[in-house]
Amino acid sequence: MHEMSIAMELLGLIERRLPPDATLEAAQVRIGPMHGVVAEAMQWAWQATVAEKGWPKARLLIDTPPWQLKCPACGRQWNPQAMDERCACGHLEARVVGGDEFLLLSIDVVLPPKTAVPPPAITKTGAL
Ligand SMILES: [Zn+2]
Repeated sequence: MHEMSIAMELLGLIERRLPPDATLEAAQVRIGPMHGVVAEAMQWAWQATVAEKGWPKARLLIDTPPWQLKCPACGRQWNPQAMDERCACGHLEARVVGGDEFLLLSIDVVLPPKTAVPPPAITKTGAL
């Protein structure tokens, strides 16, 4: 199960971008099917990882775009049912396009409330 190492790397990437004292609420990722990530295993790994970091309620939203084939002969692009699917034009060697994305799309955080800072005292020195 490589989802645990992916979850740990993902959280490390997020942590490097979090403002100090921020609480992670959610992360949205796009993971193409070429990575072989099982969504349920990824959710389990994510929950275990964020709970260890102190953010047990941080959600992981996974967008899985379909992979596609593109025909080099006619340029047709489609979502196949199998990797070896041939093009409608009869060409046999369609290329895989897309499906290998792994993107961190967004993170939602909660920042601690700002502490009120009193305005600086106005002092007059010297004559105007
Ligand atoms: Zn074709």
